[in-house]
Amino acid sequence: MTLAIGVDVGGTKVAAAVVDEGGRILAKLKRSTPAASPQRTEQAIADVVTELLAGHQVVAIGLGAAGFVDCDRATMLFAPNLAWRDEPLKQRVEERLGCEVVVENDANASAWAEARFGAARGYRDVMLVAVGTGIGAAIIIGGELYRGRWGIAGEPGHVRVVPDGRLCGCGNRGCWEQYCSGNALVAEAREFARRTPEGAMRLLQLGGGVAEGISGPVITQAAAEGDPAALRCFQTIGGWLGQGLADLAAILDPACFVIGGGVSEAGDLLIDPARAAFERALTGRGHRPFAEIKVAQLGEDAGIVGAADLARQTTAPSSPSSGPPGPGSFMRSTSMANPVTNAATAQNAAIPGTDQPAAVATTR
Ligand SMILES: [Zn+2]
Repeated sequence: MTLAIGVDVGGTKVAAAVVDEGGRILAKLKRSTPAASPQRTEQAIADVVTELLAGHQVVAIGLGAAGFVDCDRATMLFAPNLAWRDEPLKQRVEERLGCEVVVENDANASAWAEARFGAARGYRDVMLVAVGTGIGAAIIIGGELYRGRWGIAGEPGHVRVVPDGRLCGCGNRGCWEQYCSGNALVAEAREFARRTPEGAMRLLQLGGGVAEGISGPVITQAAAEGDPAALRCFQTIGGWLGQGLADLAAILDPACFVIGGGVSEAGDLLIDPARAAFERALTGRGHRPFAEIKVAQLGEDAGIVGAADLARQTTAPSSPSSGPPGPGSFMRSTSMANPVTNAATAQNAAIPGTDQPAAVATTR
């Protein structure tokens, strides 16, 4: 049984766990993220890893971080909710720990976990769409993560779906995540309650009597009770989700979409209207199969589990899913002496259990 540590670094918390090769969590720790300081965030990561290392023998350490990770998976180019700007995260954390770490984008790590152990198990062509505050996403093609030339592939939240539409945090207008996200759901409900308070009585009651009190959990609760106004909000957001998935299917033709993020906890309230809109909007419908649309299964642990599994495969690529790693492969890491070789290996990690051919280092 080989163990690995996965760390999920978000804007508010650092969560880390020891994960076995079946994706099960054996021990877990959480700390709040000192998001304003890159150095203190890196120290918080090193601290949780050190604490877990004290009680477990592991073969690899993986970090899943919320932000743009460069194509060598070493530098955080940009993180919207952390102070990282062109930060050499891999090197900084390795210096603090004295051993190798593998860095990955958090949505990529989550998608990997869902494809290995969760909702998309057995599928080789998968797209994860995480509907949370905004939209996070990741692409798996032929059993491998697709990262793009510079590591930044899979940002469909900023595809513009409405010309001159709502202003987005990225500076553009009409981005998909302005219509299909937790923020959009709440904005929709509040706007409805202000415009038509007599139709939003249950939402207002649960929100403490004012439109500003209406939150995501309030809308989910009201919708679960069958409140028509809340259901209408989910239909609107789900409709935008399904249309966007149809557009993504026009480009990628995946077998399975996994819908994660906080809004996906509403389950069928979101997925049913999404599936209906997807089937209406899909080009060539009636003459092609519909992709599966599934709710993510691993919840908030997906990033941890995926980061650990990707690190295990990168560090011990000859034994991706079973058997002991090479003796001392972790402590004798060569990554710091030869990061290029390591990055090439990492980029070719393939999902075990599929008929993906063995990883072959690409020419760089
Ligand atoms: Zn945008």
